[in-house]
Amino acid sequence: MFAFRDSMGVVEISFTDRHGGVSEGPWSSLNLGTSNGDDPARVRSNFAALAGGLDARPERTVRMSQVKGADVAVLNAVPDDIPVADALVTSTPELTLLVRAADCVPLVLADPLAEVVAVAHAGRQGMVAGIVAATAAAMRREGASLITAWLGPRICGRCYEVPHAMRDEVARVVPQAWATTGRGTPGLDIGAGVAAQLAAEGIDVIDVAAQVATCTYENVDLFSYRRQGKRSGRLGGTAQLRS
Ligand SMILES: [Zn+2]
Repeated sequence: MFAFRDSMGVVEISFTDRHGGVSEGPWSSLNLGTSNGDDPARVRSNFAALAGGLDARPERTVRMSQVKGADVAVLNAVPDDIPVADALVTSTPELTLLVRAADCVPLVLADPLAEVVAVAHAGRQGMVAGIVAATAAAMRREGASLITAWLGPRICGRCYEVPHAMRDEVARVVPQAWATTGRGTPGLDIGAGVAAQLAAEGIDVIDVAAQVATCTYENVDLFSYRRQGKRSGRLGGTAQLRS
């Protein structure tokens, strides 16, 4: 179920892998995506399994409708509607924040002393749109100062092939994302790009992929949109504050 778990003071974070759920086929088995064709009842079971694995309450797990932008939703309770945003921030204990991804960077951030946590969805578009800076700013408005970020499993620069023009366009905004694939073609290293943006914000980075040898495209224990196509499942990244 978990590719990686960590805790820091009152903060608990995790990244899931594709195992331990009930979905079948391309979503097998712990798919957390809700708009990729999987059976909604199975996805609900997967959410419940994840909450169980985290020792959290399913009804206090908050996900977002991700649109590859830079909007941040700050929560102090479970919202009535699923926020349309690419980052969630809270200083409320026992809320479990969830980001979903399959190749994009799932990002979890925390200031354990100030007791502020966040999750963010930082793919190519969100990275260029400034989701990292927007999330950091929202956390600081909630009182965060010493922020740590966990950079979750994502596609690596050797695997993420893009057209020449797209690489140029992204590298103009985030030079550190410029990459060459294993085939010698233009690529993007969104992990390196997001890490550089975090460093520019003075945020310490823990690279989960480096610790668990994890590129979503290469590791079949993970979901990858590039490898599996539109019906690929989605991995999750979570953050919660214990009371
Ligand atoms: Zn790779």
